[in-house]
Parts: sequence; structure tokens; C-alpha cells
Amino acid sequence: MEKAWTEHIGPGGERYLTSPLLDGAGARHLFSTRIGGVSRGAFGGWNFAVGVAEERDSEDNVRENYARAAGIFGLSAGDVCRTYQSHTSRVDFVGEPERGVGVTKPKFPYGVDGLVTDTPNLLLSVRSADCVPILLYDPVGKRCGAVHAGWRGTAGGVTANAVDLLCRFGSRPSDLLAAIGPCIGPCCYEVGGEVRDAFPARDAGLDGCFSPCGEGKYRLDLTEANRRLLLAAGLREEHISCANLCTKCDPVRFFSHRRSGPVRGTMSAFITV
Ligand SMILES: [Zn+2]
Repeated sequence: MEKAWTEHIGPGGERYLTSPLLDGAGARHLFSTRIGGVSRGAFGGWNFAVGVAEERDSEDNVRENYARAAGIFGLSAGDVCRTYQSHTSRVDFVGEPERGVGVTKPKFPYGVDGLVTDTPNLLLSVRSADCVPILLYDPVGKRCGAVHAGWRGTAGGVTANAVDLLCRFGSRPSDLLAAIGPCIGPCCYEVGGEVRDAFPARDAGLDGCFSPCGEGKYRLDLTEANRRLLLAAGLREEHISCANLCTKCDPVRFFSHRRSGPVRGTMSAFITV
């Protein structure tokens, strides 16, 4: 059985998690919890998105929360590059021009749910509050990636797209390490047949990630689906690390869309080379 993930306390009391597998390879990364930061109320405390409902967090709070996360890496908010998530399967290779995008510079003008880079100290950010955050690291080629995968992105192959893009720039799948962060677990994630139908029948055996739980209802294991997609993309089994922590089950540490609805905060996962 895999080692439990490590919980850390940052300089401002922020709690965050790292994967022992990525730590062991020297990957600078973290998965935030909701503990820490300057946001209040439903967004309290370490929130990385202003939100989409009528009640929103302030841009200033979110920027300060980014600054605190970047500070843990010895970087600033202007070093972050932030996806513009819209449940696409799009992954972009980013570099120096994208430093600060979405935080201290305007956001991407199109939906992009995954980022990969080889630019030192460019801090990639993907956000989630039940969806799956996935970080990728190539210790040989010194490249990294960050992916946001809800069920649409998972079904659309966004995770494999990130692996493919890293490999187009010279990485080998057998060198890549992956960390699949906290997300809604099969304990809490009931979906209908339309979600199951959206998953293509692949060699990865994604059908096995759905367990029937009533008339036309299934429990979906998004962590396992993405693990299988990574295996199908050529990653080694021992190179994939799963937090296996359910965001809906743990209101103290995690924001959850299914638990709280649209008025809630959002966590972020970060990685840099
Ligand atoms: Zn749960």
C-alpha cells in the first residue's frame, strides 16, 4: 500500500499536502487545503477563485492567497500561470510569456484545462473543489504539468493529452511521475447513465470505474479512471501516486461543490521545475 500523503504547515499557517512519490523525486509541488489564507465566510480561508455565484470572494483576497502559495516556493503571485478551466480537453505548453497569466495578467482568452512547461520557476496552477487535480513531473527531462479533470475532462482524455504533450517535447512516459490529488470519492459521487455513456470504451477499462447503485445510477471513481488513463498512456504503476482523500467527506480540510454548491471556495494544486 502507498504511503499516506504528507501534510505540511506553511509560514502563514497554511496547510497543504504533498505526494511522497513526487517529493522523493525532488518535484516542487503542493495541493492546497482550505486551511490558511485571507478569505472569509463561505470562501474561508485559502481560496483560489472569486466564484461564479452572486456572492463572490474579492480579487484582492484571491491574489493574496496566490501570493502566499507562491511564497512557499520562494516565488511571487506574478510567477503563477493559471488555467482558464472550462471542462475542455485542451492542454497548452507554456513558457516565459505566460508568467502571471490569470493572476497578475489577463487570463487565457480560451478554455484550457491543462498546462505543461519546462520553464524554471513558472508555477502552474489548476483549481478544484471535487474535480481531480493531477500533477505530472519528469525528473529526467525537467518538465512538469498540471491538469484539471472533472468527469468531462476525464472522459475527453485531458490527462492523456498532457502526457502526450510532454512527450512531444521530449519526455518519455516511463520517466513520468503523476500525483492524483484530493477529489470527490466514489463514496460520494453518484452519476447518471449519461455520464457513463460519455466515457468511450477504451482499452483502459474505464467501465470498471462505475459501480451500479440503483436504477440508472452509478458511483464513479474519478481517481481510478485517471489512474487507468495514465497507465494506458504508458506510465508505470509505481510512478502513480493517489491521495485517495474525498473532498466531500472532509469539510475541515477541503472545499466541495457537491457539499456546498456554487457559493464556496476552490483549492489549487501547484507544480514548478
Ligand atoms: Zn466521500
